Amino acid sequence: MDDTTRLLKDLTEAHGIPGYESPVREVTRRYLEGLGELSQDKLGSLICCKEGTAPAPRVMLAGHLDEIGFMVKQITDEGFLRFLPLGGWFDQVLLGQRVIVKSRLGDVVGVIGVKPPHLLSADERKKVVEKKDMYIDIGATSRQEVEEAGVRPGDPVIPRADFAVMANGKSYLSKAFDDRVGVAIAIAALRNLQGCEHPNTVFAAATVMEEVGLRGATTSARVINPDVGIVLEADIAGDVPGVKAEESNVKLGKGPTILLYDSRMIPNLKLRDLVMDIAAELGIPVQLSTIEGGATDGAAIHLTNAGVPTVVIGVPARHIHSHSSILHRDDFDHAVQLVTHLITRLDADTVAGLTQ
Ligand SMILES: [Zn+2]
Repeated sequence: MDDTTRLLKDLTEAHGIPGYESPVREVTRRYLEGLGELSQDKLGSLICCKEGTAPAPRVMLAGHLDEIGFMVKQITDEGFLRFLPLGGWFDQVLLGQRVIVKSRLGDVVGVIGVKPPHLLSADERKKVVEKKDMYIDIGATSRQEVEEAGVRPGDPVIPRADFAVMANGKSYLSKAFDDRVGVAIAIAALRNLQGCEHPNTVFAAATVMEEVGLRGATTSARVINPDVGIVLEADIAGDVPGVKAEESNVKLGKGPTILLYDSRMIPNLKLRDLVMDIAAELGIPVQLSTIEGGATDGAAIHLTNAGVPTVVIGVPARHIHSHSSILHRDDFDHAVQLVTHLITRLDADTVAGLTQ
């Protein structure tokens, strides 16, 4: 396992749902140590400042720390946990999945369950089960056993899944590539910048609570006061059965994506074109993407102060917002190369030109 694979494994296996990012923040902090000056905003976003040859422009990189998860809502008399979602879950990927409840006494393993199919009528069996009818089973036989395990309403619940390198050696399987891949790109780009000059100051933000409304991006952008924003995200790969070409052309292994549109941001067009020109110069394959039903930290960052020219660079991932997403190593490496070169090109004149 090389350094990059280890980085992606460590980041994706770390626990961190909206409002409970401390475990993944500590892993990220360990990787950022020595790459720049570390600070934190008051919601918990981690900021690493790496000075180049000029104090400005101030370049903000953003990848979000949080993954989607759940919170314990109620405990039933029989010893089951009712839960609420933190972030956008598709009900059909939940049943039978393992979770970890972070109780005050430690980690408690559980599984998401529903009434057994053997006890359902033929009609009931055809219906989609909704989250509100599911529960978390920690193996308890009474409310008292749940309480003895230290589980209380409000406890965070984390998807449980491990990292694996897949058969072709290039595809990686793990939870939380959305958006630990963005955090990993920022770390790798900062490593590259240790050995080269850049005409600006870089602020890499590992933001909190993106999945519940871009909250950490809002506060960290106020702290950073950026002149330009580069959002690093997991994008949606459309190369799975059932997706039509007109819905998505994005494929695993065919290059990082440049987001042309999402529901809450249109990128700065000059910055978008600069990214495409740099990719063409370097021979980096890129794919163009549009997300009509979603947004990124860019939505918050580009509305900071009088406005911030912002672009989103993505790594395609299959099955995001589930326990098991897949991305391709080549796309990751190309994204790091692209972001590193982009940063070295963002001098004062270029950034001023983006909004003239
Ligand atoms: Zn995301």
